[in-house]
Amino acid sequence: MYINPYSQINNSQGLWLRANFHTHAGTGKNTCGTHEIDEVVASYKEAGYGLLTISNHDLFSDVGEYAKKHDIVLINGFEYSSTPHMLCIGNTSVLSGTHQQVIDECLEQGGFVILCHPNWIHKEYWPWKDIDATCGYTGIEIYNGVIFRLSGSGLATDTWDYLLSQGKLVWGFANDDFHRWFDMAKGWNMIFTPSEGHQDIKESIRNGWFYASTGLFLNEFIFDRDTILITASSKDNYVKNYEYVFIGQDRKVLDKQMGESGKYKMSGNELYVRVQVISEHGAMLWTQPIYRSEMFRRP
Ligand SMILES: [Zn+2]
Ligand SMILES: [Zn+2]
Repeated sequence: MYINPYSQINNSQGLWLRANFHTHAGTGKNTCGTHEIDEVVASYKEAGYGLLTISNHDLFSDVGEYAKKHDIVLINGFEYSSTPHMLCIGNTSVLSGTHQQVIDECLEQGGFVILCHPNWIHKEYWPWKDIDATCGYTGIEIYNGVIFRLSGSGLATDTWDYLLSQGKLVWGFANDDFHRWFDMAKGWNMIFTPSEGHQDIKESIRNGWFYASTGLFLNEFIFDRDTILITASSKDNYVKNYEYVFIGQDRKVLDKQMGESGKYKMSGNELYVRVQVISEHGAMLWTQPIYRSEMFRRP
């Protein structure tokens, strides 16, 4: 049986929050988080974000005081910075130990974990064999904005398809990894949540009720019997030409279409199908996969 993670969204009351979970701020001049937390939160709010995590290197930032001031949801966290890096979000303190110990403790504290920039510096900065041996994480950064001005690749859909092809239910996230003003609003997550409560948001993330984007919005995503129908668009834009790419096991392109919407009829043999959309002006969107429930488990 195929599961569409977005199936319940169409009939639910709730709101969409634009979110960045990877933000360095407030750690002082010439550090990664050189800009003041207050200013960074204000700027994200102004850019249309509804949810932000200040995630400094091995430093837990309690930024609750800014939530009310800027009318934005702030979920605390930090970036575990022993190589390779991971984001711990929605937990309650900084954590140390091995990667697995930190993930286990983060979950214990009510948080979740995202593996960071899997292709920073070189392909497999996060070695696939190490990810295979890791459990309890919720997803990976399929897009990390800052890497595009550093080295390696900010895109890691190769790692994502590697994991999905093994039947691992891993969600794809897009984050800025904000260090400087010019890193802002490059890639984000659009999260559907019943409310702005932290528990609801965490539950939405666990359910995969979000998509990753560099500028497109998901207007429609329907999985009716065996057919996926998807419509994405940029906001208030005349652009009408979008490429819809349907991707399955082992990164195979199952179909590719140009137009205002995309449609894919399942043959029934697919392990999973995820859709990525590219507009004629270069903006992208990645949906979470539709997957065969009996073949998938959380890592
Ligand atoms: Zn990092
Ligand atoms: Zn970082």
